[in-house]
Amino acid sequence: MTDEIIKGVLEKRRAVCRAAEAEADDRKRYALSLPEVAKAHREYVYALHDSLRLGGKERKRRAEEAYDAYLAALGRAGFSEEDFSRQVTCPICKDLGVTENGLCSCVHEEVVRALGVACDISPDGFALEDFEKTEVHGRQADLLEKIYARMNAYAQKFPEVNKQIIVCSGKTGTGKTMLAEALSRTLIRRGHSALILSAMRFNSLMLKCHTSPYSERDGILSDVMGAELLVIDDLGTEPRYNNVTCEYLLLVLEERSAKGLSTVITTNLSPDGILRCYNERIYSRLFDKRRSLPISFDGEDLRLN
Ligand SMILES: [Zn+2]
Repeated sequence: MTDEIIKGVLEKRRAVCRAAEAEADDRKRYALSLPEVAKAHREYVYALHDSLRLGGKERKRRAEEAYDAYLAALGRAGFSEEDFSRQVTCPICKDLGVTENGLCSCVHEEVVRALGVACDISPDGFALEDFEKTEVHGRQADLLEKIYARMNAYAQKFPEVNKQIIVCSGKTGTGKTMLAEALSRTLIRRGHSALILSAMRFNSLMLKCHTSPYSERDGILSDVMGAELLVIDDLGTEPRYNNVTCEYLLLVLEERSAKGLSTVITTNLSPDGILRCYNERIYSRLFDKRRSLPISFDGEDLRLN
């Protein structure tokens, strides 16, 4: 998903550069169609040609004079030579957005904006790094501080993380969704794709996939399978569809883990509740100690290692 977005941004850059080059060419063609400019230009080209072919100080001086005369003629027509080439704002990548070493820093902001649009998350809202500036009071303050510190460390390492599944559980209003959104925003700001779907929407998307012709399934699943981070928010609130809800949840979790992509689940359900509502395979996938990070917002079993 991220690669496609970056490709789109770079294509747009190239198109803008091409358009600017075409405009510069048009200006040059127009300027050289003006008789006075055309004459001065022709004389300069002849003088330069003579100087290069035959050499000599005198010919060189004449070529220089002819060049000055040409520039003066251009100036009288309201042009300068700079008008005939594309103006470059970034000297590093010449505005193309890429260098030998990859993406140019000048394109980062555009990539972030495009990611925000594609993932439908504005990068401007509350992100992990904003937590420090927020005053947190109450019983949860210490816990939230620990959780945000742990998530900051996670985001720093991303995508080289060994826990590919994060399960945020806790009662309504404890800040699970806010944390998942803040993590998503932080990753988007760093140029990664992050997609947040409510469990309800995820479930209906899976139903759509299940009932669509085989040839359309990849298209329906592509963002869910391709986003660098996927958040399934409020697992347990979705209606249950036979052959869909559990089956596709497991499929998505397994396929994403196999690709090394991270998935965050937020839920009001306790681990036992997940086992009861889903099945053992989903339970063991979500709570596999080696690969998943459970975070409880209720203050119990906080294992943040
Ligand atoms: Zn650049």
